[in-house]
This record gives sequence, structure tokens and C-alpha cells, in this order.
Amino acid sequence: MTTAAYAAMSAGAPLEPYSIERRSLRPHDVCIDIAYSGICHSDIHQAREEWFTSLFPMVPGHEIAGVVCDVGSDVTKFSVGDRVGVGVFVETCMECDNCTAGLENYCVKGFVPTYNGKSYDGEVMYGGYSSSIVVDDHYVLRIPDSLALEVAAPLLCAGITTYSPLREWEAGPGKRVGIMGLGGLGHMGVKHAVAMGADVTLISHSPSKEADAKRLGAHDFLLLSDRDAMKERAMTFDLIVNTVSAPIKLDPVINLLATDGTMAYVGLPDKPLEMNIFSLNSQRRRIAGSNIGGIRETQEMLDFCAEHGYGSDVEVIDAAQINEAWERVVNSDVRYRFVIDATTF
Ligand code: NAP
Ligand code: ZN
Repeated sequence: MTTAAYAAMSAGAPLEPYSIERRSLRPHDVCIDIAYSGICHSDIHQAREEWFTSLFPMVPGHEIAGVVCDVGSDVTKFSVGDRVGVGVFVETCMECDNCTAGLENYCVKGFVPTYNGKSYDGEVMYGGYSSSIVVDDHYVLRIPDSLALEVAAPLLCAGITTYSPLREWEAGPGKRVGIMGLGGLGHMGVKHAVAMGADVTLISHSPSKEADAKRLGAHDFLLLSDRDAMKERAMTFDLIVNTVSAPIKLDPVINLLATDGTMAYVGLPDKPLEMNIFSLNSQRRRIAGSNIGGIRETQEMLDFCAEHGYGSDVEVIDAAQINEAWERVVNSDVRYRFVIDATTF
């Protein structure tokens, strides 16, 4: 099936209209008419080869929401017309200890990404900046009826990436949680942590975002450049979920953690970061990492958002505006997720 898409033809090239072939349905495949596709900062990192060598032409996009348009002969979970989503990976080994425990995101063989990678049998994967996609039913999520598809799309990456560490390190009543960076991930982190009942502070390098942070439910706002405020809040956080996309100085942030506090890193800057070990061992603090979430937890997160009545705060754009939107993401000027209307590819 030929599908309209937008692609980067080489590293750093602007995205342009492109056409791709989707595979014919296998017994466990679901074909999805994409309605909306979110723009994640990871799309930009990969299309500009900021992390590692990428595959081109690249059709990015791993925050996909749409409607089932066809199903393979063995699919029982989904029917034509169902509202569904697809996130960051579309194939895993399903045999390793992590896969069998529902942690497909940590598959020992390595998951097959939705784009910028090849399936285990060598098919080049193309992502959600396109009008349709074919995905094995195990990696397809159900979008609850109360969530509009455009506000649900970013949940498939930004939503689960912040939900998973908040659950793992038990954000909830009595826990002082910092969310660092108010972008696509950060704004979902604030909403989740507030809904979980934690005491939430947004930690930011943008003074202009204080009002938005409070509107999203944060109880407090901490500006990284405000030395007095940083001193006052030293040793007060149980958990900081760090979503920052650029290299930063770690020690001032680690010093915000209480004894035994944890900083969970989800942001993926393009360069290694330096830190002073004294910042950690002086208070038995920890730095951890977290990568998206498993399929079961992603469904739990979608249902949690529906139950608490929130999705992402989105700005819907046409495909022709993608390059301009990417520049705004890089300049921390997204409020708070761009979502592409897939009818415009
Ligand atoms: P985003 O919308 O661009 O948000 C990143 C935020 O980081 C910005 O809004 C800004 O917030 C802050 N920031 C940027 N530059 C900064 C600087 N120099 N100093 C301090 N703060 C800075 O990006 P996103 O889509 O949320 O993604 C964030 C990062 O997470 C990216 O690196 C992305 O690749 C990664 N990611 C990881 C996973 C995973 O599973 N681990 C999944 C998705 C994305 P303020 O203006 O509030 O400071
Ligand atoms: Zn992403």
C-alpha cells in the first residue's frame, strides 16, 4: 500500500513530502489510518544525527493516534473502527525475561523502533509522519473514548516516558517531586505527578513558563538561574524526573535531592555529562535512567489519563509546518506538544 509521508532525505535536511510502501497485512497485523502524529524531540535528535548514525530517508514519528482500517486474519483484540495508538517500538523478542515480564521496552535483544531501524527480518521501518501504518497487534494500544485523538497522540511517547519513572519511584502523596524542563515530556510529567497526588515543582531555565507550570497544576516553580531559590530548595526533593534535551550542569540539580533522593533521567542530550561524585555520596543520592515503558504500563497510563480527564496540551499543525515547528522545539518554544494533522501529509 502506498502511503503519503514526510521524510528527511539525509542528516540535517529539512523534511519534505515523500511516499512509502506499507507491507501487506500478516495474520497479526493491524492497519491504522493515522489521524495525528506528535513531534517528539527524539525525532529531531535522530534526523540530525545528534545521537548516532541514522537511516535515511527517514520518516520520523512515534506518537501515533488513529483508527483501525483493516486487521489480519488472527487479530482478535481489534476491529475496524477502533481508536488506537502506536508508540516508540513495534517488535521485540517476546522471549527474554524483560519481554515476558511486560518490560518490552528493555528487551534484551533490543526493540525494533517505529522508525530509524530495521525489523528483525530486515524491513526498513518508517514512522508516523505518514497517513497510515501497519503494526503487529501486540504493539497497538487502545485509546479510551473520552480522550480526543490529537491530545492522546503525545501520550504514546511523552506520556509513558514520564509516567513510568513516576510509578517506579513511587510519586504520590507525601512525595516531593521535581519535573525538570517544561516541554513535551515535562508538561506530561507535571500532569501525571499532580494526578498521582505528589507535591510537584517545575524546575526550568525559562522564567516565562512559571504561569503555565502553575496552570498545569505544579505547586511551585524553581528557576535554575535563581541562586537564592536553588539554595533554599537544596536537599528537599525525593525524586526529580529530568526531561532536559541539552547538556547541563548536573551538580546544582543533584544538590536539590534530599538524602536517598533519586534523579531519574529521561532527557537524552547529545553529549556525555560531567558530575562530581561528592554530590551523590554526601547524601546517598542516586541517578537513574528510564526509557519509555512497556505495553501493559502504556495502556495503564492511557486509562489513568482518561480516568483523571487529561491528555496533552497540543498545537495542531499541517505537515507543511513541520520544519518551522522543529525549530521552535529546539528553542524551547513549544506549548507543549506539536501534533501533525495526518490528513495534510
Ligand atoms: P522538548 O519539548 O524540547 O523539552 C525539553 C525541555 O528541556 C525544554 O522545553 C526546556 O524546558 C528544557 N531545556 C532545553 N534546553 C535546556 C537547557 N540548555 N538548559 C536547561 N533546560 C533546557 O523535548 P521533549 O520532546 O520533551 O524531549 C526531551 C528529551 O527527552 C529529549 O532529549 C528527547 O530525546 C528525550 N526523550 C527520551 C525518552 C525516553 O524514553 N527516555 C522519550 C522521549 C524523549 P524549560 O524551558 O522549562 O527549561
Ligand atoms: Zn519520543
